[in-house]
Amino acid sequence: MFDKILIANRGEIALRVMRACRELGIHTVAVHSTADEEAMHVRLADESVCIGPPPARDSYLNIPAIVAACEITGAEAVHPGYGFLSEDARFAEILEEHKIKFIGPSSAHIRIMGDKIEAKRTAKELGIPVVPGSEGGINDIREARRTAGDIGYPVLIKATAGGGGRGMKVAHTETDLENAIQTAQAEAKAAFGNGDVYLEKYLERPRHIEIQVLGDGQGNAVHLGERDCSLQRRHQKVWEEAHSPALNAAQREAIGGRVARAMQKLGYEGVGTVEFLYENGEFYFIEMNTRLQVEHPVTEMLTGLDLVQEQIRIASGAQLKYEQSDIVFSGHAIECRINAENPTTFAPSPGRVDNVHVPGGLGVRIDSALYAGYRIPPYYDSLIGKLIVFGKSRTECLMRLRRALGEYVIEGVETTIPLFQQLVAEPDIIDGHYDIHWLEKYLINNT
Ligand code: ADP
Repeated sequence: MFDKILIANRGEIALRVMRACRELGIHTVAVHSTADEEAMHVRLADESVCIGPPPARDSYLNIPAIVAACEITGAEAVHPGYGFLSEDARFAEILEEHKIKFIGPSSAHIRIMGDKIEAKRTAKELGIPVVPGSEGGINDIREARRTAGDIGYPVLIKATAGGGGRGMKVAHTETDLENAIQTAQAEAKAAFGNGDVYLEKYLERPRHIEIQVLGDGQGNAVHLGERDCSLQRRHQKVWEEAHSPALNAAQREAIGGRVARAMQKLGYEGVGTVEFLYENGEFYFIEMNTRLQVEHPVTEMLTGLDLVQEQIRIASGAQLKYEQSDIVFSGHAIECRINAENPTTFAPSPGRVDNVHVPGGLGVRIDSALYAGYRIPPYYDSLIGKLIVFGKSRTECLMRLRRALGEYVIEGVETTIPLFQQLVAEPDIIDGHYDIHWLEKYLINNT
């Protein structure tokens, strides 16, 4: 087991990782920008190193500074959290060269899944169902017209290097196609420095359902069930739950088993999430995230597993302790992503947090790095807390969530708590009847 781990991240996820380390008796090193000197992750770590000025590219994405921080402190491993360098294959390689363990999969697997065309090809080879679309990238408009005609309109143009829902354009008819391709290419080039795009069938009313997997890189892998992340705004998840209101145990086992077998074949190491769109009883692979996800706590609530501790054990060379039959699900969990944003316009609301009171009681978990007097810097993501609620049933979970949201107080900045207070009262949400477009439509009709 490691003696000291450096956490190359900030905010709630840095705290989350630190908690896992502390329970395992591992020392922690925080890194921070000059904007985060007063941040909770710096206060709670055993040691901390300043790695640069506020902009992420100069600090949290500054690979030489992070490697130097490992060398100065003697950290043997790096946990990247999510975002920042968590899916950067080059970062994983550089750490390998410096004999520092990257807590995550091999750089080769990160690279495959980071290229969406390559990821789709690999998924298909491994027996995972994919969205019908172009075999590779789009090189020529005539070829694109032919492919779109074969699979049928509407089609979606997506960036090979995509992430965060950017670089995606829908074409409803052949007349839209050329324009959609050009716009997506330009957007992808601006956002990712890579203008390559591909084409797939646009599913009109799918749910977003993802499967959590855990592998040890030694041929063992299990699935930890699904999460339903259909409630999205601008392709960003807002509310996540497990189990999905749309799946039964047999469907879960069928898709989960397929994904677990694929990960065994791949020799996948660590935690990962295989994301699908689900429509009319069919699953369609869209991408795989080779890291811990923001919404991992809902899976922890149902399985009782600490996913970060599992990541650390596996990275230290341990074999998976479980077989699929050892994974037992119980109850229901929902996570709300609380952002420092205006709940109607979603404009960021950084600044001083004057007062915080978090809900508590049975089945309520808060993952957050906020404290009264903390100044939320304007440079980073606006996620300031995750409220995760567990109940024996979905009905109990919703009742508890409503109660917990009523107790949550954050003063000084605007937050999205009022949005969730509205959502828990919506009949469609209570009934679990929603797809990936539900929230966008709701926001248009209610603001
Ligand atoms: P990113 O990496 O940018 O997040 P994803 O491929 O994961 O991109 O897609 C993000 C979201 O975009 C999905 O959750 C879904 O809402 C929507 N989406 C992606 N592919 C399709 C598709 N073929 N049809 C309809 N919606 C899609």
